[in-house]
Amino acid sequence: MTKNFKHRGIHTKETYTVEEAAGVVGSCARTIRNWVWSGDLPVVSQNRPILILGADLKAAVIIKKKPRTRLQDLTDFFCMTCKEARPGRDGTISCEASEGSPSVAYARCSICDGRCSRRLSASQLDELRRVLSRNTSNTPAP
Ligand SMILES: [Zn+2]
Repeated sequence: MTKNFKHRGIHTKETYTVEEAAGVVGSCARTIRNWVWSGDLPVVSQNRPILILGADLKAAVIIKKKPRTRLQDLTDFFCMTCKEARPGRDGTISCEASEGSPSVAYARCSICDGRCSRRLSASQLDELRRVLSRNTSNTPAP
């Protein structure tokens, strides 16, 4: 599904609050917060008010206008540089469990070496750890 979000009025060098971003994109503030929460929209800092760089906002809107990219595999990540789902490069995938909030996994893009991350549910985190430990035990250390 594609939405009719606007990106032409976004100034890439300005920062926006959630409310300002919603106004310029033509969405509601909740939509912008969901993008931030899901990791689709990077923020300048987590301190309040949350500030979003125009360039990041524009990139996120352009992605949102495209049909959704599904991460097929647990070791797939969304690369912010390629704007595509990419497999994480072997040996660069790490997970970070945190109490009370979704866990995050990080990796380097297998294509461009850009930084990728994705949020994981508790069960996905367990599964990813299992996959990673299987991979490391199968390959002898260099
Ligand atoms: Zn990439």
